Amino acid sequence: MAVESTPLSPATILGYPRIGRRRELKRAVEASWAGRTTTDELETTARDLRLATARHLVDLGLDAETAAVPGSFSFYDQVLDAVALLGAVPERFRDLVSTGSTGSTGSTGSTGSASAGALSLEGYFTLARGEGDKPPLEMTKWFDTNYHYLVPEIGPDTPIGFVDDRVVREFSELAHPADGGQAVVTRPVLVGPVTFLLLSKAESSAAALRGSHAHSSAAGDEAPDGFDPLDRLDDVVAAYADLLRALAAAGAPWVQLDEPALVTDLLDVPFSDVADAVRRAYSRLATDLSPVPGRDSTDGPAERPAILVTAPYGDLRSDAGDGLALLAGTDVEALAIDLVKGTVPAGPVAGLETKTLVAGVIDGHNIWRADLDARLTTLEGLSALGAGAVAVGTSTSLLHVPHDVGDEPRLDPDLKSWLAFADQKIAEVVTLATGLAEGRTAVAAALAGSTAAVRSRADAPGVVVPEVRDRTAALTPADVERAPYAERAAAQQARLDLPPLPTTTIGSFPQTAEIRRTRASWVRGELSDAEYTTAMRAEIASTVALQEELGLDVLVHGEPERNDMVQYFAEQLDGFVTTVHGWVQSYGSRCVRPPILWGDVSRPAPLTVEWAAYAASLTSKPVKGMLTGPVTILAWSFVRDDLPLGETADQVALALRDEVTDLEEAGIGVVQVDEPALRELLPLRRSAHADYLDWSVRSFRLSTAGAGTATQVHTHLCYSEFGQVIGAIDGLDADVTSVEAARSRMEIVPELADAGYGRGIGPGVYDIHSPRVPSVAEVTELVTLAAKSIDPRLVWVNPDCGLKTRSYAETKESLRNLVTATRSVRATL
Ligand code: GLN
Ligand code: ZN
Repeated sequence: MAVESTPLSPATILGYPRIGRRRELKRAVEASWAGRTTTDELETTARDLRLATARHLVDLGLDAETAAVPGSFSFYDQVLDAVALLGAVPERFRDLVSTGSTGSTGSTGSTGSASAGALSLEGYFTLARGEGDKPPLEMTKWFDTNYHYLVPEIGPDTPIGFVDDRVVREFSELAHPADGGQAVVTRPVLVGPVTFLLLSKAESSAAALRGSHAHSSAAGDEAPDGFDPLDRLDDVVAAYADLLRALAAAGAPWVQLDEPALVTDLLDVPFSDVADAVRRAYSRLATDLSPVPGRDSTDGPAERPAILVTAPYGDLRSDAGDGLALLAGTDVEALAIDLVKGTVPAGPVAGLETKTLVAGVIDGHNIWRADLDARLTTLEGLSALGAGAVAVGTSTSLLHVPHDVGDEPRLDPDLKSWLAFADQKIAEVVTLATGLAEGRTAVAAALAGSTAAVRSRADAPGVVVPEVRDRTAALTPADVERAPYAERAAAQQARLDLPPLPTTTIGSFPQTAEIRRTRASWVRGELSDAEYTTAMRAEIASTVALQEELGLDVLVHGEPERNDMVQYFAEQLDGFVTTVHGWVQSYGSRCVRPPILWGDVSRPAPLTVEWAAYAASLTSKPVKGMLTGPVTILAWSFVRDDLPLGETADQVALALRDEVTDLEEAGIGVVQVDEPALRELLPLRRSAHADYLDWSVRSFRLSTAGAGTATQVHTHLCYSEFGQVIGAIDGLDADVTSVEAARSRMEIVPELADAGYGRGIGPGVYDIHSPRVPSVAEVTELVTLAAKSIDPRLVWVNPDCGLKTRSYAETKESLRNLVTATRSVRATL
């Protein structure tokens, strides 16, 4: 259909960080949670932030009138926003919903079977944070990023309707600002209906009734027979249609619906089902609703804004099917494709001729300045696709990168000139759009600047370090092999003399306020290095004494000196820098500051040895050295784009391998290399898994295989759903693997046994994410369960994860119960 509505701006971004340049939103949200401010005050802060942000984006060059500025604000999470929009509240939280007053449009979703109602802002946060014995929505990672979204729970009777017009109000606020200043016509951004349901889990009525136990086993609760959240597509789409009508009535020319579910085949839904859902959803939304006034020779108003569907984080096309052709076949007005992770199709795509193609050529997920010349060439090549128009965009929302390189005074100026955070990326998008429209000469200076930066980076000392390259080039298969497990197990038992069902912890002990204060004073220069070391040693000594008193078998030093399990290593390794204000949202109000891995990695000096050795000097029990593995270090950093990830991983692995050797020389007989992010980096397409698992497993083995036969290598993984990676767990060849298992009631143990895993396994016996102290009976039951599903000689007893977020009171009691329970089970063996 011919479109006569406002054309989409030729330069746009798919989303912008919403936490605020100085984390204003984080502070405001947390102040309101703590009761220091009212929700009205929070709403005001948020409104000011949205207005300031929108005007800032206009100042950076996004057009104020043609929907270039995304309306991508969220108080907590965009998926939770969709839950609130739809009133799709799980049974256990239904009392938070007011069914009488709905959004100010008065639209009550007529579609859901139970009547949908709106959540207050407090109610919205309660879904995210839980309340009393009602667990929050589960949290899981968003595609291949380190951002976590809340998983909607959708059942056959979950109410669904258009109950909350927050999106419409946010649009109007900026289009008609109360202060009479610069107006900005934004493009409201929503999770698309198909992705929303594909990311939802089935809410079983049984789970709803069981309240607090509902989340205790995501995999264990059976959904009602054959129900799939996608069965509710028509209801969700009807509610979105109501929302689109309301947006059109408010004058919104464009809306953005994000459908990243189309770039992955890990959701276990066949492409044909996804395709059916997309066709059904967008024929209702795009075809049945008119985007322009007076269609069908009536005088009716436009029924919806023009629709931009985005597919960030990967390639729309795969062996499973062609998602680009699928979307091009709908009647939406614009498509955004990821041309950083995805590829450019060779020839014309049917249906694109009536659409605007938003070409995601600027990387929204990493921080490198783009080679604008090369991107412009890519953009020019897109004419072969026959799109009605081409706009320049980011590959993903800029949610994943910090705000502004200009905020980093401490970075080396050369390095700084290679970086583009969100604001710099907007300038890049604007430059490319100008270059595409007016030719290269119009942007010659910007292109030259970009080319110079690319060159300066390639030639800079430290980017390529010959000794590091020589070392990785000389690696042979023997470097990832240790002696056979049986031989290792015997040598380790002879050395460590552990009882059956050995007890240990995952590494960190509570990071008390005092520890954090001490570190902060040291960072500010108020404490000398010597004073800081003394304070940390005192902490280690008390942690070791506590573990001896509790009767644990393998002790740890407790990690008090670590600010973060990746940053601690990045600060000490060559090839990394860390930032001051480079915060990105991880979930809700939580932000992280990923280090930047810019050059070849090496270890100028030992990283952890002095702390581990000090702990070992205080006890006759074995002390476990503690390292973060290569894959996790990469997963939680911004990685370089000029070297294959596998090669970077090998460099990090070799640095860790030297650390293992040094730990051994200091007398440490047990070393744990944590890889909680092994599964997180799993590619979104199955076809890429073999290659990923190959390099990730190799790099882990490279980091550990230098250990002698009598040194016991542990690893720790932070999740219980192994699925695609179960083979890889075995491939790591660790002597002992600890995993999260309490919430799934040890189900991972028989799964591993069935997959042929035959080395040590430490299924976590209690969940450290909650302050609850597990009873002796509970732990006894879980240990017994584990010891029944696999050779009991392989079983270790430990918590699910590190204890750094817990208090000492809970920790002592929990570990005491853990030891008591283990002793009672031991007696029955
Ligand atoms: N050793 C780390 C700790 O105990 C592991 C943390 C993690 O798995 N995320 O804190
Ligand atoms: Zn963990």
